[in-house]
Amino acid sequence: MEIAIIAHDGKKAEMVQFLNENRHVLEQKRVQLVSTGTTGEKVRAAGFEVTALLSGPKGGDAQIAARVAEGKCHMVIFFRDPLDKHPHEPDILMLMRLCDVHNVPLATNPASAGLLIKAV
Ligand code: PGA
Repeated sequence: MEIAIIAHDGKKAEMVQFLNENRHVLEQKRVQLVSTGTTGEKVRAAGFEVTALLSGPKGGDAQIAARVAEGKCHMVIFFRDPLDKHPHEPDILMLMRLCDVHNVPLATNPASAGLLIKAV
């Protein structure tokens, strides 16, 4: 199973904390993590194996959106920072739209992500 993880800058620490809290599930279920570039660097530094794509503003969200559309990515955990502006807002909206188009589970905060991970 492939899970995409993305965290805006103000949420990267929360993403690492979330993954640490759920490390056992990720390992037990052999989850393959894919991420945007900078999120991937942080997550790798915390000891997780992750395939890091481009940085979000450079097209990483769009790459993950394509994986969702192609059926390669089965869940998206996207900790957005609602208090910040993002130059790649169109890509963010596209990713969320394609999750809905293809009925792929999408969590945008740790509370909902925690519920989704329980179902893995
Ligand atoms: P980043 O991208 O992981 O490269 O910071 C996340 C985003 O802003 O979508």
